[in-house]
Amino acid sequence: MPSIRFRTLEKIMSRKPVKVKEVTAKRSELFGINVFHKDAMRQTMTKEAFKSVQEAIQNGKKIDRKVADQIASAMKDWALSKRATHYTHWFQPLTGATAEKHDAFFEPISDGKAMEKFGGSQLVQQEPDASSFPNGGIRNTFEARGYTAWDPSSPAFIYETTLCIPTIFVAYTGEALDNKTPLLKALQAIDEAATGVCKYFDKKVTKVHATLGVEQEYFLIDSAFADSRPDIRLTGRTLLGHSSAKGQQLDDHYFGSISDRVMAYMRELEIESLKLGIPAKTRHNEVAPNQFELAPLFEEANLAVDHNSLMMDIMKKIAKRHNFEVLLHEKPFAGVNGSGKHNNWSLATDTGVNLLSPGQTPMNNLQFLTFFINTIKAVHDYEELLRASIAAASNDHRLGANEAPPAIISVFIGEHLTNVLNELEKVTKGKLSPQEKTDLKLNIVGKIPEILLDNTDRNRTSPFAFTGNRFEFRAVGSTANSAKPMLVLNTIVAKQLNDFKLEVDAMISDKKMKKDDAIFNVLREYIKKSKKIRFEGDGYSKAWEEEAKKRGLSNHKTTPDALKVKVSKKAIDLYDAMNIMTKVEIEARHEIQLEEYVMHIQIESRVLGDIARNHVVPTAVRYQNTLIENVQGIKDIFGASYKETAKEQMNLIKTISSHINEVIHLIDAMVNQRKEANTIKSIEEKASVYCNKVKPYFEKIRYHSDKLELMIDDELWPLSKYREMLFTR
Ligand code: ADP
Ligand code: MG
Repeated sequence: MPSIRFRTLEKIMSRKPVKVKEVTAKRSELFGINVFHKDAMRQTMTKEAFKSVQEAIQNGKKIDRKVADQIASAMKDWALSKRATHYTHWFQPLTGATAEKHDAFFEPISDGKAMEKFGGSQLVQQEPDASSFPNGGIRNTFEARGYTAWDPSSPAFIYETTLCIPTIFVAYTGEALDNKTPLLKALQAIDEAATGVCKYFDKKVTKVHATLGVEQEYFLIDSAFADSRPDIRLTGRTLLGHSSAKGQQLDDHYFGSISDRVMAYMRELEIESLKLGIPAKTRHNEVAPNQFELAPLFEEANLAVDHNSLMMDIMKKIAKRHNFEVLLHEKPFAGVNGSGKHNNWSLATDTGVNLLSPGQTPMNNLQFLTFFINTIKAVHDYEELLRASIAAASNDHRLGANEAPPAIISVFIGEHLTNVLNELEKVTKGKLSPQEKTDLKLNIVGKIPEILLDNTDRNRTSPFAFTGNRFEFRAVGSTANSAKPMLVLNTIVAKQLNDFKLEVDAMISDKKMKKDDAIFNVLREYIKKSKKIRFEGDGYSKAWEEEAKKRGLSNHKTTPDALKVKVSKKAIDLYDAMNIMTKVEIEARHEIQLEEYVMHIQIESRVLGDIARNHVVPTAVRYQNTLIENVQGIKDIFGASYKETAKEQMNLIKTISSHINEVIHLIDAMVNQRKEANTIKSIEEKASVYCNKVKPYFEKIRYHSDKLELMIDDELWPLSKYREMLFTR
């Protein structure tokens, strides 16, 4: 019988193209048809209910119970008209995935009759039996139950036949058990802080929201490949596998033409996304073979985070229909690029101004510089926390692994803006003379929009880059929930803007300074103070690592290391001052992340042990036996001279033996190390041992297994090979 690998290949070769439903409607007509958005609400709700929801969305105003009943009833009618049968509170527990528990609208009433029911109380609050979601001890210590509560700022939607209601998830004692709750608080903090600062420039601004555009990278392989490899099935990545002779050296995949099969998948993915209100816009091939990207247009950050989580789910479901497996892991294949999730972030006012976009007038540019420089200062002050926000076992494969981007956080702003900041820094201290001010405005500030027009110097090696009208946080991993980095970024910038306003106000009132002068003065000091976070060079280079060390920037290459700062006094004080998370919540989250890390490495280690022992070693032994038979036969024919005739075969037998020995020996050592690690009580220490003592075996075992793969008869090798997985379409 041919090996599972060959059966897999046969299966793939004989696949017929998947029939996709022809969609004739224009995409604009499909957009949001399954979303209970503003128009749908207006059409179905009483005036009172509509007004109440809008106020809840815009100003966070509470909805009273009676009105909630009206809203629920409208929502139910709308959902039933779209053939929904169930509803669910849809939330993002700390596992990073999304969670849902479906209830039917259907309810039996008397006399064997039934009807569809959905009231305000079901809409507003639910109590899922969620005791097995991670909670970092919160619910054990305080109260056993948790509940979900409606987030009206993210509209309900129908996915398949279920009405999904985005919610937060909190313990009865009030502690957040999800990613959304603290994010919403951070977004409120940045709204208040940025609106306060905007008033210096435009009194009409009453609201600022953070905007987020998420670029999602992913790999697609035939699902039969995933079925043939336990490592992909169970861990989302290949733990073994020799690199393909051809990889991404020729750069011939990037932006290349998309194969029919992949195109059919992308088309369906986009259409399903659009129906759910996800503004899927850009698609293209990425750098690595079989790697792609989908980038919806930016939206308000909370919505963009929800949409990205939902999109990852849709990606997996639709992939199944196309006999694909979508790999969202940061590093499914060694030796070719990994996947990220660039978080494009900016701030927008309710007057329609992008605060990180240089304007037409010097005053607008002063506003731009204010937000630009304050963001840099915030990243400077909290670079470690930002690094911690993207820490995960899977992202460790990218960060600092000589591939986009390094584990060192730095900010890239381009040559032109660097010059602008350098000029501003030189302006003499104290009050600006009228002459100087005019020059400054005309010569430096006034020119920003022009010079940015040819801002083509994009630095792909920077983890945090300014790209003309937004910052792009590129270090976020492809599996991440963007709520985590967005929580940190918005919190630190909010804190920074609050501090800035205090300083400027103090200068205006104490030193009788004019507003513009005060702003300039504070900004100039920030430019000086935050200089060390700015870096324009090659982020992958060894030289930068050394330079960053001299500058005192952190370089945490592993998750356990990176996470430490999350429970530092500085972090606890920050979240406390900004009213975003309590010490209990922070510590619980920290514990959950460390536990998650341990489990992640533990699972990988077990899977690796299994496949090395059960797939690799037996295959090597089988091939070795063939060689032994061969040598024996040669000996029978040639007698004493067989040593010369069968020299290379005998060498091969020896080499195979030595690799087999190494593999077995290393697995045993790894298992022992794991057993030892499992006895450790402290979760910090356990994570550190898994990271520094268990994980290093992965590469060693892989080395020997990959060598064996090169030697052993192709017909026998059971695991789908890199060249097959990466180049079959
Ligand atoms: P690139 O690959 O050049 O970075 P893409 O088009 O793939 O560009 O992605 C850019 C992302 O940035 C998109 O999601 C886009 O909507 C988003 N974006 C553009 N302007 C803003 C903004 N002001 N705030 C947040 N995101 C933005
Ligand atoms: Mg980008």
